[in-house]
Amino acid sequence: MRCEIVAVGTELLLGQIVDTNSAWIGEQLALAGIDCHRHTAVGDNRDRMLAAMGEALERSDAVIVTGGLGPTQDDITRDVIAELLGVGLVRDESLVARIEAVFGGRGRPMPANNLRQADVPVGARTIDQMPGTAPGLVCPVGAVSSADGDDSPKVMYAVPGVPWEMHQMVEGTILPDLKRRAGISSVIRSRTLRTWGRSESGLAEDLADEIDRIDRDGGATIAFLASGMEGLKVRLTAKAATDAEVDALLADGEARVRAVAGPIVFGVDDQTMESVVLDLLVDQGLRLATAESLTGGMIGTRLTEVPGSSRAFVGSIVAYDGGVKRSLLGVPDGPVVSEEAVVAMALGACEQLGAEVSVAVTGVAGPDPQEGQEPGTVWMATCVDGEVEAVRTRWPFDRTRIRQFTVITVLDALRQRLLARQVG
Ligand code: ATP
Ligand code: MG
Repeated sequence: MRCEIVAVGTELLLGQIVDTNSAWIGEQLALAGIDCHRHTAVGDNRDRMLAAMGEALERSDAVIVTGGLGPTQDDITRDVIAELLGVGLVRDESLVARIEAVFGGRGRPMPANNLRQADVPVGARTIDQMPGTAPGLVCPVGAVSSADGDDSPKVMYAVPGVPWEMHQMVEGTILPDLKRRAGISSVIRSRTLRTWGRSESGLAEDLADEIDRIDRDGGATIAFLASGMEGLKVRLTAKAATDAEVDALLADGEARVRAVAGPIVFGVDDQTMESVVLDLLVDQGLRLATAESLTGGMIGTRLTEVPGSSRAFVGSIVAYDGGVKRSLLGVPDGPVVSEEAVVAMALGACEQLGAEVSVAVTGVAGPDPQEGQEPGTVWMATCVDGEVEAVRTRWPFDRTRIRQFTVITVLDALRQRLLARQVG
């Protein structure tokens, strides 16, 4: 089974959006054990789309097309597929009703344009998952004998460009259909352990012996994925005959990695540093405040991106100016990038905002030095149970990275303290 991906959209060619859809689908295909031989990007142009899709279909058994399924005049994927397969389009009345229902649910009348989205190439079926108004398509290609076309020699799928709509369709329909066609009955799944505070080479060295042992035992395979400002990911992938066996292999791999890596593993899969910190705070019945200078509110922003963050996060004082630090947070006279200042900020945040726990940061984001200190000089503090711990760091980065590394590092420091508190 050979598969290809065709991403449709002139914005992709102009560099206005990055083709993350093909990257994501490519990863899912690899995890499912299906070979993907090419990614093509093509603009919203009939002739070039016909050529790109036709060539892909020539070379491969399955083609996944993403984008161009919307209601506007430049969304022509369904027309081009019908033309390529030499069939007409028929309006699917049940789709008309579903699309109208989506609009009804949003309290808006349906524009006439959206009716086009209910047109389906003859012989194709629509994908059950339909989170938006764009239906996805499964189009059998070549002679079929079954009514649903499941035995066609080749197949073309079309999914919307909107990533979260596309994800549901690929996971819910396309991957299972491809696996069935390829005769793959084994289960492959992965689990990602997220780490902070160790370099890729350092962690790889720590884990080298354990990885060899897991390999010899026929366990999960392990890959390192550096994700820059979000830390290093350790991805475990396991293949077995059943879900239960895969789960067991992943659980064993996870336990063995954790035994070596210890507390640098902060989360699993979709967990983020901020979601983990918030969970710990909620578990321990603590409320968090922040006092931010260098990061200008970024810590509060990241915390509040987590649904339900109000259960533990009370607020931030963004004290950028020295005068504000002194008047609102009680920072003493003297340098504001200093241990005294950051300790006062951490205590001041708890006091002013009525929280048991706080984090505070002050530093030099650069590019110019400040108070005679080099850019990248940062003081970070955590206050737990009235006790403040402060550390000084010197980041060798640019302004953006200095601020982003500071956010995740100070949250990690708080995470470690909360973990210690839980155990202690
Ligand atoms: P819609 O119904 O929203 O019009 P569509 O199927 O027509 O969906 P497009 O118009 O091609 O899809 O894209 C809609 C949006 O989805 C784009 O503005 C972009 O944000 C995102 N998108 C499209 N293609 C990709 C891609 N290959 N990778 C990442 N994002 C994409
Ligand atoms: Mg569109």
